[in-house]
Amino acid sequence: MKRLIFLLTLVFFVTITKAQQFTLVSQGKSNARIIIPEKAGVVEIQAAKVFQDYIQRISGALIPIATDNTKPLAGEILIGRVSRPELKDVPFGKLGKDGLYIRNTGKRLVIAGGTGKGVLYGVYTFLEEYMGCRKYSSKVSYVPSRKTIVLNSIHDIQIPAFTYREDFYPDAYDPEYMDWHKLDSHFGGHDSGNEWGYWVHTANQFVSAGEFGKTHPEYFSFYQGRRHPEADPSGSPEAQLCWTNPDILDIVCKRLKSAIGENPVPQYWSVSQNDNTNYCRCPDCSRLDSIHAAPGARMYSTHRDSYSATGMGSLLPFINQVADRFPDKTISTLAYQYTRVPPVGIVPRKNVNIMLCNIESPRNVPIEIGDTAFCHDLNGWARLTGNIIIWDYVVQFRNLVSPFPNLRTLKPNLQYLHSKGVQAIFEEANPEKGGEFAELRAYLIAKLLWNPDLDVNRLMDDFLSGYYGHASKMIRAYIDLLHDQMEKSGVKLGIYQTPVEEKETFLSDSLIRIYTELFNQAEKAVAGSPEILRRVKTARLPLEYAILEIARDEKTGKRGAFMSADDHSLRPKPEIVKMLYDFVYLCISTNVSHLREGSVTPQQYLENYNKFLEENTTGGSGMTSSTRKP
Ligand SMILES: [Zn+2]
Repeated sequence: MKRLIFLLTLVFFVTITKAQQFTLVSQGKSNARIIIPEKAGVVEIQAAKVFQDYIQRISGALIPIATDNTKPLAGEILIGRVSRPELKDVPFGKLGKDGLYIRNTGKRLVIAGGTGKGVLYGVYTFLEEYMGCRKYSSKVSYVPSRKTIVLNSIHDIQIPAFTYREDFYPDAYDPEYMDWHKLDSHFGGHDSGNEWGYWVHTANQFVSAGEFGKTHPEYFSFYQGRRHPEADPSGSPEAQLCWTNPDILDIVCKRLKSAIGENPVPQYWSVSQNDNTNYCRCPDCSRLDSIHAAPGARMYSTHRDSYSATGMGSLLPFINQVADRFPDKTISTLAYQYTRVPPVGIVPRKNVNIMLCNIESPRNVPIEIGDTAFCHDLNGWARLTGNIIIWDYVVQFRNLVSPFPNLRTLKPNLQYLHSKGVQAIFEEANPEKGGEFAELRAYLIAKLLWNPDLDVNRLMDDFLSGYYGHASKMIRAYIDLLHDQMEKSGVKLGIYQTPVEEKETFLSDSLIRIYTELFNQAEKAVAGSPEILRRVKTARLPLEYAILEIARDEKTGKRGAFMSADDHSLRPKPEIVKMLYDFVYLCISTNVSHLREGSVTPQQYLENYNKFLEENTTGGSGMTSSTRKP
């Protein structure tokens, strides 16, 4: 009997499946046509063109585009809000801005979406999940080749975990990459979807030391017995504004009004502290800070010790007043370092956005485990407002091209933030070109921002095989070993550390030998494919950087940069000099802009390293002759 039920079920299933099959292309020819609304919007037209373009690339068939004022036929691909009966089944109310809907009814394929780019995201999702296309980076894509495309049953509704998803890698701002991976941006004009008029650290934009420092020193922070209206040697402001000074409110509002007048469309306008911790301790600011300080509140700061104060007490009343004057806009402000702790006795206005930053969090473990103080602050802010954007940090900023085994924290961190109701995420990755596993990281972050519950191992394996070809297994083994050893060592991984600090842990001599062997095998496996070999060599740069930095630190001995002769003279090891030259050349030729956030170009690195080698060479004929050997 059981067997009979099984067979009946199977027959039923096969019948249903057959009934829902849709032949999009047969032997390179298609009888289908794409239908868009008679008055299609820009996104709908773009979505239809993307669909047409990729199906032609896959199969060779060019499917024509028509509008919905034509007679309905079988074999239509409905894109956007077309007038066809199938559209009444689309739950537009649930899709919000970016949600997407894909359904194959057997007679028609429906792709629709929310009020933003939902329909375009629907097309890219169809291409990726049902056609097998991939976009690994702005330049590396995979489009399969199939002469016949028959679609089985599809009923797919996707709504993103976060309404705002920004993946801060230069390559991820490529227009097609952004659309493919459903990303947002605070750059560019409104046409590109940018909703931000001002982004962050804007205090100095409104009131600068250069303009007001001499005439109105009282506009700037008071501490150590005086006002601080100066700029530091780099031109950045040394301090903050005195938020309780009434002139500041007038100046900021006047200038904000003028900026909004010039650029009226963006919703979000940042009025936020400068990037330093020198907040104002004048009597008025201190009074508010102390009135609104949570019991036992601490100020968290990356570069200094903790203080028993919170700076949000004086800042938030100011921000609320600005928000009151611009009721149609959202005023964003940082909860960062000395303003991270939520205040008591004051609530952000509905049109205030809190940009909450976890710069202090360790990166070796998920923040839920590793930074309970931050979680406590997030819970506190979540009680005050639902309008929070998290500014999360996901790379090593002091040494951008250095091993940084934090990939296992990306998913749990986003899952945690989602569980707390956070709606918007800015993943601060590498602002410079290049960086450790830049393409892999950008890819994983983009996918997890859409859905943090995805299987990250599958995602990673898919990326590695598509991007590194036959070297993918060795690269995966390297990533796994690096993370295993970091976890085993129990080190705390911070975003401003150096590989030298890890030379006895996950960058020990014996481990570096294993990593080196894995990369040797990886390069060998793809020796016949110059483009993929170059990608593997690029993935190897952080390992070489670690070796070079440790060699500079150790100077002599097994891992040092110098060999010591019998007469105790020091000469650079030829293998270190060769690695230095190879490292710098590959950085230059793959457009690595900086090795540290905002500084140290590859050329400067070479210059500095050469200087170090020269200054420490003793006896013999000096480094010039030895460095020529390799
Ligand atoms: Zn003050």
